[in-house]
Amino acid sequence: MAALVPRIRGFNLAVLVITPALGLYGLCTVPFNLATTIFSAIFYVFSMLGITAGYHRLYSHRAYSASVPIQLFLLLAGASAVQGSALWWCRSHRSHHRYTDTPLDPYNSHRGLLYTHIGWMVLKPAPSPGSSEENPGTGSRLDGKPGRSNDSDLRNDKLVMWQHVNYFPIAFFMGYFLPCLVAGWGWGDWRGGLYFAGMVRLTLVHHCTFCVNSLAHYLGTTPYDDKLSPRDHIITAIVTLGEGHHNFHHQFPTDYRNAIKWYQWDPTKWFIWTCSKLGLAYHLKTFPSNEIKKGELTMKMKQLKQEQDSLTWHKEVADLPVVTWEHFQDQAKERTLVLIAGFIHDCTAFAQNHPGGAMIVEKSSGKDMTAAFFGGIYSHSNAAHNLLSMMRVGVLEGGVETTHDAPPERVVANLRPEDINIDFRVPPARKLMIVEATKTQQDLQ
Ligand SMILES: [Zn+2]
Ligand SMILES: [Zn+2]
Repeated sequence: MAALVPRIRGFNLAVLVITPALGLYGLCTVPFNLATTIFSAIFYVFSMLGITAGYHRLYSHRAYSASVPIQLFLLLAGASAVQGSALWWCRSHRSHHRYTDTPLDPYNSHRGLLYTHIGWMVLKPAPSPGSSEENPGTGSRLDGKPGRSNDSDLRNDKLVMWQHVNYFPIAFFMGYFLPCLVAGWGWGDWRGGLYFAGMVRLTLVHHCTFCVNSLAHYLGTTPYDDKLSPRDHIITAIVTLGEGHHNFHHQFPTDYRNAIKWYQWDPTKWFIWTCSKLGLAYHLKTFPSNEIKKGELTMKMKQLKQEQDSLTWHKEVADLPVVTWEHFQDQAKERTLVLIAGFIHDCTAFAQNHPGGAMIVEKSSGKDMTAAFFGGIYSHSNAAHNLLSMMRVGVLEGGVETTHDAPPERVVANLRPEDINIDFRVPPARKLMIVEATKTQQDLQ
């Protein structure tokens, strides 16, 4: 614990401790005022939009272009959230995207929820546990400092630099003074303006936006990719004006949307879209839906493959002994062996469970029942075909009965082994398979 003291960023800690403390004091001592409460809620949304639509989607990711009034609106709103200038914020955020889940990620999820939520802001960087002195990939030192990201576009943006250079007075005015002034001049509630619209609102804004770095890398699903920690969850989306669809966002960061389904909660997207309809925002970027769907499909197939792998399947041809017709005939006298589609099936245990009676199966021992099974007498169900495949014990040499003295009903007329209908050979449950590409499967490239 003592080792942490020299690493504490005093100013940030003070803001993050004093603000909620004063907010709590205000909650206990200042009378409720409806106008102040409504104003606080509006001011909360204003501050949140400054971070989500401004710092994040506009400045960090350039997901759209905004007119000067909207840029100014978002920079002032972002400053009212008192969490650094847009330039500082975006630099860290771009680093986070570039080095997600690595020691160079300023809010590396492997450091735990508390660190990614607030720790990274109140503590100066320290080497990640287990990190080596040098990063073999880049040669850069892993001294805990965030990896570099390019901010030249932001440094060339006059408004961003104006906000950066004058950040402290702007943030103080927007974050604390303005809410107090509005409630004081507006309806005489100076203290309510300061404590509710100022301190309490700011505390909520802080922790809601911090959730994007903490909770959105911890809670939820991975519908687009599961290689890294970002996740989608409705709770994170609700508290962050839509930023909780973080799995999508890390896959498609330049998309102005974080949620693409109409029913998903993403007010920041709605705000940007509305601005575009009013001519205040333009060049809204969207990732090609074809590529988005590939991500979704990959994850769905991954899940299906897990299910597929959890089932027991029949033996493949290569795993079965090849049996001659004569040997098959010999064995069929001792147990119920039925030939269907070139495969010999041991139906001894199953015969008693045959819905058409055991006799039919037992009488078929030693015979080729391909035609009968697939419709000659009764067309069996897909489930029956799947079950049948589990009884495979061998492959008949030549695939079909080849003896010339066999009675005609035993022989599938003019059938060569390679001609056996694929619908007969492959059980229905095996027709669609998910196969993983491996180094030896060149054809899947
Ligand atoms: Zn993230
Ligand atoms: Zn981002």
